[in-house]
Amino acid sequence: MPSLFLLAACGPRELEPDAAYVCDRCEDWNEPIEAFRVHGKTWYVGTNGLSSLLVETDAGLILIDGGLAQSAELIDASIRELGFDPLDIKAILVSHAHFDHAGGVAAFQRMTRADVYTSEAGVETLTSGRLSEGDPQYVADSDAGSFPAIENVAAVGDGESVAVGSTNVRAIYTPGHTAGSVTWTWESCAMNTCYDVVYADSLTAVSAPGFSFGASGAADRMIESAGIIADLDCDILLSPHPFFFGMHDKLERREEGNPFVGEFGCVFYAETVLGWLEQRLDAEGR
Ligand SMILES: [Zn+2]
Repeated sequence: MPSLFLLAACGPRELEPDAAYVCDRCEDWNEPIEAFRVHGKTWYVGTNGLSSLLVETDAGLILIDGGLAQSAELIDASIRELGFDPLDIKAILVSHAHFDHAGGVAAFQRMTRADVYTSEAGVETLTSGRLSEGDPQYVADSDAGSFPAIENVAAVGDGESVAVGSTNVRAIYTPGHTAGSVTWTWESCAMNTCYDVVYADSLTAVSAPGFSFGASGAADRMIESAGIIADLDCDILLSPHPFFFGMHDKLERREEGNPFVGEFGCVFYAETVLGWLEQRLDAEGR
């Protein structure tokens, strides 16, 4: 029975989803939407409210973020609808270790045996599937925010890249929303035109009751991270929640060229998140 043994060693050949995570906004976030090309070899394969991206390279696919545990099947279907084989995924990148972006990653990792990459500070949470005490959304003695634990998680240093074939996706550490938040950036080329794509991580001050962004220093890290994002070469802004980059609005304007390409995406994003942070700090009574 050598072939059976081999199959077992390679893991499942089809997606075996984990149990769904239940939250107030999960159902809305997980509404299916049609996969689409953002530009060149960069595709959106996420859901209505949670981004997942596929980058095609000359040596396989890169998947970025996995939505909720229950998003995995939708992402899998989107990848197939585009004509790709999810088994060609060679690397899985994660923006930050929260249930709504890392929840579907374990199922893809089991199926593809791909390595999973995030920042040094994000490895432990992805590996355990449980928030650590410093996370703004951590609740003591609670399973809140936990997600399926992920195997084969590797750290990428700040400024270092994950390479698949000739495609390099660079990690830029942008802590604040979580200690391990990573912004990923790569070049997308089509018809002799190349654009810098920035998948800017969340910079929202969302927390469990009692956490102070001001007192903990998370606000300072967020301000610094917003500055880093604003300074990046950024022709195409994407981010873990589609509303951060106006996805639905842009999808309606696709007749007028590519609405995802724009000059001030990252600067505008940085200004917007700093505005939200101001409100939060006011509410904390700084
Ligand atoms: Zn988050």
